[in-house]
Amino acid sequence: MKKILVTGGAGFIGSNLCARLLEQDNYVICLDNLFTGRYENIKDFVGNPKFRFVENDVIYPYDFEVDQIYNLACPASPPNYQYDPVKTVETSVLGITNALKLAQKYNATILQASTSEVYGDPLVHPQVESYWGNVNPIGVRSCYDEGKRCAETLAICYNKQYNVDIRIIRIFNTYGVNMEKNDGRVVSNFIVQALSGEDITIYGDGSQTRSFCYVDDTVECIMRMMNNKDNFIGPVNIGNPGEYTISELAKMIIELTGSSSKIVYKPLPSDDPTRRKPDITLAKEKLNWQPEIKVQDGLVKTIEYFKTRYSL
Ligand code: NAD
Ligand code: UDP
Repeated sequence: MKKILVTGGAGFIGSNLCARLLEQDNYVICLDNLFTGRYENIKDFVGNPKFRFVENDVIYPYDFEVDQIYNLACPASPPNYQYDPVKTVETSVLGITNALKLAQKYNATILQASTSEVYGDPLVHPQVESYWGNVNPIGVRSCYDEGKRCAETLAICYNKQYNVDIRIIRIFNTYGVNMEKNDGRVVSNFIVQALSGEDITIYGDGSQTRSFCYVDDTVECIMRMMNNKDNFIGPVNIGNPGEYTISELAKMIIELTGSSSKIVYKPLPSDDPTRRKPDITLAKEKLNWQPEIKVQDGLVKTIEYFKTRYSL
């Protein structure tokens, strides 16, 4: 049994991670300010003596003696991270700083949840970890992208300068159970629109691509990365290499829900990456991991979840 801190543990990925860590009999502290996370996501764990929820903001220092830290706290959907851009930068930069200081104090291993957004609108396709990216440092997405890039830098600096045991993962678009209905990401938007008979909103002409990984696969890889015995610190891409245009995704969701919703086209937000697909050779080699869940199967599970949780 390990003592593990999960920042952002009440969020979408964080709550799925807490569930797996508790299944494996660990003691889990979930620290979250509930900005985009929900108490509903963790309510099943409350009452478990091995689970503790602390409502707190990661930009302020905290102190828990732990063996491992998963640093996931940060709004992840574009509308949420653009709502208060200054706070988003602070959450990434001050959040990782506080977490790294804690790791240094207790000799804990710390994993930073970085993102495919560090590649920006990529000029290399598929994206490999050695690619440095193409990010607009003053654009609407920069509060998130540059905050995450700086968090990677801080993690590497603490590793080199203070020998802190770090792991860096770059998560590509993940979807599944415990996504928030109004989160604004494409999978949740399309499923909720399809189930409610509302128009499906494609931004731009729908030719931009993304690769979608089901949350169980993502969580499995996150845990393998944290626990790898080879001192492999990353960064490592985590994602499903299947690549779909947003139009293809809309059609799939309409078909799987049997919806009569119509597709409507809205303006493409600025700096919206044109294409995205992970090269996962490194995750295969170092962590013996690749996604197991096909996109259609993951979407069916996610549709069922939205129907049940939100009575759609
Ligand atoms: P989410 O918004 O559901 O979860 C983020 C959690 O962090 C929420 O519970 C939120 O309340 C909490 N949080 C935000 N700011 C905080 C602060 N200042 N102090 C304390 N808690 C705070 O998003 P998610 O999809 O679960 O993403 C989790 C992590 O994974 C994020 O760091 C995100 O950047 C990263 N990530 C996610 C994806 C994806 O596709 N889901 C892709 C790349 C990276
Ligand atoms: N998108 C869309 N309709 C929506 C929400 C998003 O067409 O209702 C598009 C968005 O412009 C982007 C893609 O879907 O091209 C993925 O968007 P998301 O916000 O899920 O993630 P990210 O852009 O961060 O990959």
